[in-house]
Amino acid sequence: MTSTVSGNRRTFAIISHPDAGKTTLTEKLLLQGGAIHLAGEVKARGQARRARSDWMKIEQQRGISVTSSVMTFEKDGTVFNLLDTPGHEDFSEDTYRTLTAVDSAVMVIDAAKGIEPQTRKLFEVCRLRSVPIITFVNKVDREGRPLTEILDEVADALALDVSPQGAPLGMGGLFTGVLDFASDTVAKPDGGSKEYLGRREPFEGLDGLPGELAEEIELVREGYPAFDLEAYRNGDLTPVFFGSALKNFGVEELIAAIDRWAPPPRPQPSEDGPVAPTRDEVTGFIFKVQANMDPNHRDRIAFMRQVSGTFRRGMKLTPSGLGKPIAVHSPILFFAQDREIADTAQAGDIIGIPNHGTLRVGDTLSESNKVRFTGLPNFAPEILRRVVLKDPTKTKQLRKALDDLSEEGVIQVFYPEFGAQWIVGVVGQLQLDVLVSRLEAEYKVGANLEPAPFATARWIKGSDAALKAFADFNRANLATDRDGDPVFMAKSAWDVNYQAEKNPDLTFSATKER
Ligand code: GDP
Repeated sequence: MTSTVSGNRRTFAIISHPDAGKTTLTEKLLLQGGAIHLAGEVKARGQARRARSDWMKIEQQRGISVTSSVMTFEKDGTVFNLLDTPGHEDFSEDTYRTLTAVDSAVMVIDAAKGIEPQTRKLFEVCRLRSVPIITFVNKVDREGRPLTEILDEVADALALDVSPQGAPLGMGGLFTGVLDFASDTVAKPDGGSKEYLGRREPFEGLDGLPGELAEEIELVREGYPAFDLEAYRNGDLTPVFFGSALKNFGVEELIAAIDRWAPPPRPQPSEDGPVAPTRDEVTGFIFKVQANMDPNHRDRIAFMRQVSGTFRRGMKLTPSGLGKPIAVHSPILFFAQDREIADTAQAGDIIGIPNHGTLRVGDTLSESNKVRFTGLPNFAPEILRRVVLKDPTKTKQLRKALDDLSEEGVIQVFYPEFGAQWIVGVVGQLQLDVLVSRLEAEYKVGANLEPAPFATARWIKGSDAALKAFADFNRANLATDRDGDPVFMAKSAWDVNYQAEKNPDLTFSATKER
């Protein structure tokens, strides 16, 4: 990475419903970017990586990706940082956090299925943060729904303007290529597998097409808004590409669009207003912490989204949670092929920082220690469980494990004021399986998870007097989180509302920002 400008960075994520083709598209993007050389590498590599760690067996068994990773590739002078978001709905919390670290997103839709539940959920997160979206309608080499039906569904379901940039000339058995409106050329299939191998021909016009198809193409070309950069950047309009990740159609156009239109690193919200990428000092925030990427080391990797400045290896940065500087000697950029030591990094880049638990999700890192980024929430857990030790002498190990795993964002942990039974909270069931499995594999702690007498939790804030008054009445429902902040453990949503009304001096919050 030798470039010294952040304007050539495109930091993005792919959002999709499982099976829409995210993995296949990722692989093709990396191939085009010259980051990998063999088709099939992404999944093969993924499997090799998964097999290395016990707890990752879960994702193997269930065929889903629990972990996020970062892939960097370069094309024509632009550096693309692709952040992988776990596709499974159980891991929405992790996914939300990853989406705070990108400047734009590519939404992959299956041409036969349209908008699916997970696509919609992820889209809503993007909308909350006005993340601009490019749409890729995938699998046009197979039978799909009529083009206008798909376009209208995206527009209606997501309340977005859609601006088609091309159209497949037939789908399924009738597929003869993908027309690109801007260049008026058709990407043609070649060979027995009908792949796109780079052959483009001038479009011969609608006259050469069967009547119905000609009509459909004309509708797609003329019946929708033209592309508008500002509307796209505001998250009000999405350009739509049709293609086939499997057969390589539309991928070239997609990369070019990300390069041309997707925003370079955006300013990030902080307590003192937005921090621009042009700010001199190096700043960034931790959006993810992952342990045991290498089982020989008990290291964790904290993923920092760089917001400003030029990072150099060995540089000293101060994490907001620690208050004293750390030297970042072995930063890692995650390339598709290898981990590579980064010498410098720019705004928009993701840096992996090995550490022993000092860095936590939500931490800001900066040279001055004067910046505090905001907007990386913890979400109120929807599932709460009591942790019951199989061997009661292992309390200390359990406490350490729960502290570690909550710091990583795998679970949230609550220590009730009364009683010795600690409570874990998650937003999805799968996190519980991961917890039990990791307790055993990494901490040698056998534990059962039993139903907790609570349904949800709220962080409470208020004056000391108000908190004390509340505590006097509700001690059995009080706990502290890992940071020692007070939490109200509620028996039901009704309970939350009731207490919130009864205690107007306190705020009951479903998210907590660090
Ligand atoms: P993910 O779950 O979103 O990562 O989806 P995958 O990339 O694993 O793809 C799911 C399935 O759809 C796999 O069997 C792929 O081979 C297949 N697939 C992906 N893209 C295409 C495509 O463009 N055309 C066809 N026919 N199949 C595709």
